[in-house]
Amino acid sequence: MKIAVVSDIHANLAALQAVLADIDAVAPDAVIWHTGDIVGYNAEPNEVIALLRERSAAGVMGNHDAAVLGELDVSWFNPEAAAAVKWTATHLTPENATWLHALPKISEMGAATLVHGSPREPLGEYVIDAEGARENLLALPTPVLFHGHTHVPAYWALRGGQSSLIDIDGRAQRLLSPSLINVGSVGQPRDGDVRASWVLWDRSDDGSAIGALGTVQWRRVSYDIARTQSGVRAAGLPEFLAERLAAGQ
Ligand code: ZN
Repeated sequence: MKIAVVSDIHANLAALQAVLADIDAVAPDAVIWHTGDIVGYNAEPNEVIALLRERSAAGVMGNHDAAVLGELDVSWFNPEAAAAVKWTATHLTPENATWLHALPKISEMGAATLVHGSPREPLGEYVIDAEGARENLLALPTPVLFHGHTHVPAYWALRGGQSSLIDIDGRAQRLLSPSLINVGSVGQPRDGDVRASWVLWDRSDDGSAIGALGTVQWRRVSYDIARTQSGVRAAGLPEFLAERLAAGQ
Protein backbone atom coordinates (compact mmCIF):
# COMPACT_ATOMS: atom_id res chain seq x y z
CA MET A 1 0.00 0.00 0.00
CA LYS A 2 1.25 3.46 -0.87
CA ILE A 3 0.12 6.64 0.83
CA ALA A 4 0.85 10.19 -0.32
CA VAL A 5 0.78 12.71 2.53
CA VAL A 6 0.42 16.44 1.86
CA SER A 7 0.15 19.40 4.22
CA ASP A 8 -0.20 23.18 4.34
CA ILE A 9 -1.56 23.53 0.82
CA HIS A 10 -2.86 26.99 1.71
CA ALA A 11 -5.09 27.56 -1.31
CA ASN A 12 -2.17 27.24 -3.73
CA LEU A 13 -3.83 25.44 -6.65
CA ALA A 14 -0.80 25.44 -8.99
CA ALA A 15 1.33 23.80 -6.29
CA LEU A 16 -1.31 21.18 -5.48
CA GLN A 17 -1.78 20.33 -9.16
CA ALA A 18 1.98 19.85 -9.57
CA VAL A 19 2.13 17.62 -6.48
CA LEU A 20 -0.81 15.51 -7.66
CA ALA A 21 0.90 15.08 -11.03
CA ASP A 22 4.04 13.89 -9.23
CA ILE A 23 2.00 11.51 -7.07
CA ASP A 24 0.33 10.11 -10.18
CA ALA A 25 3.73 9.65 -11.82
CA VAL A 26 5.47 7.81 -8.97
CA ALA A 27 2.57 6.18 -7.11
CA PRO A 28 -0.58 6.23 -9.24
CA ASP A 29 -2.53 4.02 -6.84
CA ALA A 30 -1.59 5.97 -3.73
CA VAL A 31 -4.21 6.94 -1.18
CA ILE A 32 -4.01 10.64 -0.36
CA TRP A 33 -3.90 11.98 3.21
CA HIS A 34 -3.50 15.60 4.35
CA THR A 35 -2.56 17.20 7.65
CA GLY A 36 -4.46 20.46 7.40
CA ASP A 37 -4.11 24.15 6.53
CA ILE A 38 -5.88 23.63 3.24
CA VAL A 39 -6.80 27.31 3.01
CA GLY A 40 -5.30 30.67 3.97
CA TYR A 41 -2.47 32.79 2.51
CA ASN A 42 -3.23 32.16 -1.20
CA ALA A 43 -6.29 32.80 -3.32
CA GLU A 44 -7.80 29.54 -4.59
CA PRO A 45 -9.42 27.87 -1.57
CA ASN A 46 -12.50 26.53 -3.39
CA GLU A 47 -10.49 25.07 -6.26
CA VAL A 48 -8.09 23.35 -3.85
CA ILE A 49 -10.91 21.86 -1.79
CA ALA A 50 -12.64 20.66 -4.97
CA LEU A 51 -9.47 18.80 -6.00
CA LEU A 52 -9.05 17.19 -2.58
CA ARG A 53 -12.68 16.10 -2.58
CA GLU A 54 -12.32 14.71 -6.10
CA ARG A 55 -9.33 12.65 -4.93
CA SER A 56 -11.13 11.52 -1.74
CA ALA A 57 -8.30 12.86 0.41
CA ALA A 58 -8.67 12.08 4.12
CA GLY A 59 -7.20 14.35 6.76
CA VAL A 60 -7.48 16.83 9.56
CA MET A 61 -8.10 20.51 10.23
CA GLY A 62 -5.31 23.10 10.53
CA ASN A 63 -5.22 26.36 12.46
CA HIS A 64 -5.88 28.46 9.33
CA ASP A 65 -8.87 26.27 8.44
CA ALA A 66 -10.24 26.73 11.97
CA ALA A 67 -9.65 30.49 11.83
CA VAL A 68 -11.51 30.81 8.51
CA LEU A 69 -14.45 28.96 10.08
CA GLY A 70 -14.43 31.36 13.02
CA GLU A 71 -13.36 28.59 15.42
CA LEU A 72 -10.00 30.13 16.27
CA ASP A 73 -9.15 33.68 17.31
CA VAL A 74 -6.89 35.38 14.76
CA SER A 75 -5.55 37.98 17.19
CA TRP A 76 -2.20 36.14 17.38
CA PHE A 77 -1.94 35.71 13.58
CA ASN A 78 0.42 38.10 11.83
CA PRO A 79 -1.42 40.85 9.87
CA GLU A 80 -0.87 39.20 6.46
CA ALA A 81 -2.16 35.84 7.67
CA ALA A 82 -5.15 37.51 9.34
CA ALA A 83 -5.96 39.42 6.14
CA ALA A 84 -5.95 36.15 4.19
CA VAL A 85 -8.19 34.48 6.79
CA LYS A 86 -10.68 37.33 6.43
CA TRP A 87 -10.56 37.21 2.62
CA THR A 88 -11.00 33.42 2.60
CA ALA A 89 -13.95 33.55 4.98
CA THR A 90 -15.82 35.79 2.53
CA HIS A 91 -14.91 33.74 -0.58
CA LEU A 92 -15.33 30.14 0.62
CA THR A 93 -18.56 28.55 -0.61
CA PRO A 94 -20.96 27.40 2.12
CA GLU A 95 -20.58 23.83 0.87
CA ASN A 96 -16.79 23.95 1.18
CA ALA A 97 -17.04 25.56 4.61
CA THR A 98 -19.20 22.64 5.68
CA TRP A 99 -16.61 20.20 4.30
CA LEU A 100 -13.81 21.96 6.20
CA HIS A 101 -15.88 22.07 9.36
CA ALA A 102 -16.34 18.28 9.26
CA LEU A 103 -12.60 17.61 9.43
CA PRO A 104 -11.41 16.12 12.74
CA LYS A 105 -8.53 17.76 14.60
CA ILE A 106 -6.71 14.46 15.03
CA SER A 107 -7.21 11.17 13.24
CA GLU A 108 -5.81 7.67 13.75
CA MET A 109 -5.33 5.72 10.52
CA GLY A 110 -4.04 2.31 11.57
CA ALA A 111 -0.33 2.63 12.38
CA ALA A 112 -0.34 6.37 11.78
CA THR A 113 -1.85 9.45 13.39
CA LEU A 114 -2.63 12.56 11.37
CA VAL A 115 -2.58 15.95 13.08
CA HIS A 116 -1.66 19.48 12.02
CA GLY A 117 0.59 20.53 14.91
CA SER A 118 1.03 17.88 17.61
CA PRO A 119 -1.11 15.35 19.51
CA ARG A 120 -1.08 17.43 22.68
CA GLU A 121 -1.93 20.65 20.85
CA PRO A 122 -3.43 19.68 17.48
CA LEU A 123 -3.82 23.18 16.06
CA GLY A 124 -1.16 25.08 17.95
CA GLU A 125 2.16 23.39 18.65
CA TYR A 126 5.15 23.91 16.38
CA VAL A 127 7.48 20.93 16.86
CA ILE A 128 10.81 22.63 16.21
CA ASP A 129 13.24 21.38 18.83
CA ALA A 130 14.50 18.17 20.39
CA GLU A 131 12.61 18.58 23.66
CA GLY A 132 9.26 19.20 21.99
CA ALA A 133 9.88 16.29 19.65
CA ARG A 134 10.85 13.97 22.52
CA GLU A 135 7.78 14.77 24.61
CA ASN A 136 5.51 14.13 21.65
CA LEU A 137 7.36 10.96 20.60
CA LEU A 138 6.92 9.52 24.11
CA ALA A 139 3.18 10.20 23.98
CA LEU A 140 2.38 9.05 20.45
CA PRO A 141 -0.83 7.04 20.16
CA THR A 142 0.53 5.15 17.11
CA PRO A 143 4.02 4.17 15.85
CA VAL A 144 4.15 7.10 13.45
CA LEU A 145 2.73 10.60 13.29
CA PHE A 146 2.36 12.69 10.15
CA HIS A 147 2.07 16.43 10.71
CA GLY A 148 2.92 19.87 9.30
CA HIS A 149 2.33 23.42 10.64
CA THR A 150 6.00 24.55 10.53
CA HIS A 151 6.17 24.34 6.70
CA VAL A 152 9.62 22.76 7.15
CA PRO A 153 10.18 19.06 6.38
CA ALA A 154 11.56 17.13 9.36
CA TYR A 155 12.09 13.55 10.54
CA TRP A 156 12.30 13.00 14.31
CA ALA A 157 12.79 9.58 15.88
CA LEU A 158 13.50 8.26 19.36
CA ARG A 159 16.89 6.74 20.02
CA GLY A 160 17.97 5.69 23.50
CA GLY A 161 15.19 7.77 25.02
CA GLN A 162 16.30 10.92 23.22
CA SER A 163 14.83 12.49 20.10
CA SER A 164 17.11 12.81 17.14
CA LEU A 165 16.68 14.60 13.87
CA ILE A 166 17.28 12.23 11.00
CA ASP A 167 18.76 13.50 7.76
CA ILE A 168 16.30 13.72 4.90
CA ASP A 169 18.26 12.77 1.81
CA GLY A 170 15.47 12.66 -0.76
CA ARG A 171 15.67 8.91 -1.14
CA ALA A 172 13.28 6.34 0.34
CA GLN A 173 14.27 5.91 4.00
CA ARG A 174 13.21 3.26 6.49
CA LEU A 175 10.34 4.49 8.64
CA LEU A 176 11.31 4.12 12.30
CA SER A 177 9.01 3.62 15.28
CA PRO A 178 8.19 5.89 16.92
CA SER A 179 8.71 8.82 14.60
CA LEU A 180 7.34 12.26 13.76
CA ILE A 181 7.16 12.93 10.05
CA ASN A 182 6.75 16.57 9.13
CA VAL A 183 5.79 16.41 5.47
CA GLY A 184 6.65 20.06 4.74
CA SER A 185 4.33 22.40 2.84
CA VAL A 186 2.73 22.15 -0.58
CA GLY A 187 1.65 25.75 -0.86
CA GLN A 188 4.14 27.86 1.10
CA PRO A 189 7.48 26.10 1.81
CA ARG A 190 9.66 27.89 4.38
CA ASP A 191 12.92 25.95 4.31
CA GLY A 192 14.52 28.05 1.60
CA ASP A 193 13.47 25.60 -1.12
CA VAL A 194 10.62 27.12 -3.14
CA ARG A 195 9.43 23.76 -4.45
CA ALA A 196 6.30 22.09 -3.05
CA SER A 197 6.96 19.27 -0.57
CA TRP A 198 5.11 15.98 0.00
CA VAL A 199 5.86 12.53 1.45
CA LEU A 200 5.37 9.08 -0.01
CA TRP A 201 4.84 6.34 2.59
CA ASP A 202 5.46 3.03 0.87
CA ARG A 203 4.33 0.03 2.87
CA SER A 204 4.34 -2.33 -0.09
CA ASP A 205 7.83 -3.69 0.67
CA ASP A 206 7.16 -4.46 4.32
CA GLY A 207 8.16 -8.05 3.58
CA SER A 208 7.73 -10.53 6.39
CA ALA A 209 9.20 -8.43 9.19
CA ILE A 210 6.60 -8.07 11.90
CA GLY A 211 6.01 -4.45 12.74
CA ALA A 212 7.94 -3.15 9.75
CA LEU A 213 6.61 0.18 8.60
CA GLY A 214 8.10 0.39 5.11
CA THR A 215 9.76 3.55 3.85
CA VAL A 216 9.17 7.29 3.67
CA GLN A 217 10.43 9.60 0.94
CA TRP A 218 10.23 13.38 0.88
CA ARG A 219 9.71 14.69 -2.64
CA ARG A 220 10.04 18.27 -3.94
CA VAL A 221 8.12 19.50 -6.96
CA SER A 222 8.53 22.69 -8.99
CA TYR A 223 5.34 24.53 -9.86
CA ASP A 224 4.24 27.73 -11.57
CA ILE A 225 4.92 30.19 -8.74
CA ALA A 226 4.11 33.22 -10.95
CA ARG A 227 0.60 31.86 -11.52
CA THR A 228 -0.09 31.66 -7.78
CA GLN A 229 1.44 35.10 -7.22
CA SER A 230 -0.87 36.57 -9.89
CA GLY A 231 -3.86 35.09 -8.08
CA VAL A 232 -2.72 36.53 -4.74
CA ARG A 233 -2.31 39.99 -6.29
CA ALA A 234 -5.58 39.85 -8.24
CA ALA A 235 -7.39 39.02 -4.99
CA GLY A 236 -5.90 42.07 -3.33
CA LEU A 237 -4.11 40.00 -0.70
CA PRO A 238 -0.92 41.43 0.90
CA GLU A 239 2.04 41.64 -1.50
CA PHE A 240 4.26 39.89 1.06
CA LEU A 241 2.23 36.70 0.56
CA ALA A 242 3.12 36.70 -3.14
CA GLU A 243 6.78 37.55 -2.56
CA ARG A 244 7.46 34.90 0.07
CA LEU A 245 6.57 32.11 -2.38
CA ALA A 246 9.57 33.06 -4.51
CA ALA A 247 11.83 33.16 -1.45
CA GLY A 248 10.75 29.88 0.12
CA GLN A 249 10.24 31.65 3.44
ZN1 ZN B 1 0.31 26.33 7.54
